[in-house]
Amino acid sequence: MVQTLSASKATSTKKISRLRAPILVNSAEVEVMRVLGRQARISRSEISSITGWSKAKASQEIRNLVDKGYLVEVGEGASQGGRKPRLLRINDQLGYIAGIDVGATSLDIALADVTGLILQRCSEPTDVKLSPETVLGRCGELLLELIRAQGATPDQILGIGVGVPGPVDFARGVLVAPPLMPAWENFPIRDCFKRTFISAFVVVDNDVNIMALGEIRAGDAAGIDHFIFVKIGTGIGAGIISNGKMHRGADGCAGDIGHICVDKKGPLCSCGNTGCLEAMAAGPAIVSKAMEAARNGTSLILSQMREANGGVLRPEDVNAACREGDQAALDIIRQSGQMIGDVLASLVNFFNPSHIFIGGGIANFGNHLLVAVRRAVLHRSLPLATTHLSIKFSRVGADAGVMGAISLALDYLFAMEDSPHFII
Ligand SMILES: [Zn+2]
Repeated sequence: MVQTLSASKATSTKKISRLRAPILVNSAEVEVMRVLGRQARISRSEISSITGWSKAKASQEIRNLVDKGYLVEVGEGASQGGRKPRLLRINDQLGYIAGIDVGATSLDIALADVTGLILQRCSEPTDVKLSPETVLGRCGELLLELIRAQGATPDQILGIGVGVPGPVDFARGVLVAPPLMPAWENFPIRDCFKRTFISAFVVVDNDVNIMALGEIRAGDAAGIDHFIFVKIGTGIGAGIISNGKMHRGADGCAGDIGHICVDKKGPLCSCGNTGCLEAMAAGPAIVSKAMEAARNGTSLILSQMREANGGVLRPEDVNAACREGDQAALDIIRQSGQMIGDVLASLVNFFNPSHIFIGGGIANFGNHLLVAVRRAVLHRSLPLATTHLSIKFSRVGADAGVMGAISLALDYLFAMEDSPHFII
């Protein structure tokens, strides 16, 4: 559980050795490190104004952290009329953070420094219906490859953030009754990584929550206190940021909007109920409606695509048909957007977010989907809740998951000794 930094890696004037992860500091120091985690470079007076502390208190806390080697000075900022301020950042030589985004059909893994800068990354297809040992074992192998490519060693990994596509008991770091991957029920994901990366703490969350964190770190959600991130792909889910913090609920499954019922007489869902939003409007539902349109002659384009693809259609084919002006494909996408928008309208009335960000594979469907979602939300929500409501696509794209997984780990890198057990 210890780490020794090599002398050649350390640029701080202070020698750091036998670093434990998470790095245990006092509550004031944790606050400074969290402020630093959100700003690449910052002056002492900016830290003082963000924390509300006196300049003397801010200077004292910063001095402690510089003495410990956690912060370093990195030149001077622009003068505000007086002396140029000296800027600080987190010492990027402390070690590394890994972000792992396990999707239903793909793995995305990234290695970052402790400022969140991605240094190495890779992706490959997977199938989460395989055993957790197989999928997570492969994640471990890929992470080791990234570590080698960086010229680092496994014991320099301080923290690992992991996103998985199912309901996560956040305190225990396990999946509970995951519809897409029943074999993963209660599998000890953290232990699986800690066997190889013995210096690292591991935090596990569901894939949509980490995308919401990725939107804060790399997208348009920085500084937004109340927003919903909606992922539309093989499934549908939401990450909820309330008062600037992730809202996970009592058991960690807040935001599982894909299983809100929109039609009791609708098709069977992977959760065992009928007519869930996910079963009606997500990727497989879009494909299923497109296959029907191809079979019954409603759409010539979809029918030709199905033949060219060996009898199957993919969500991107429906999108392509829509772009070519196919009315059936357009109707299918609009129906999905309207159903998703109807559910979001209820959430807007209930939660009053200022922003809704939409991401995931189906979000690439462009304006027809977005217009249908917006129209349904505006039609069914209270006017006061929509006056300032912004609904737009996430612009983080495919990196949202790994960025968020890294952000999740960074949130707990500097922790207090009485921190909850879930990060250990
Ligand atoms: Zn369901």
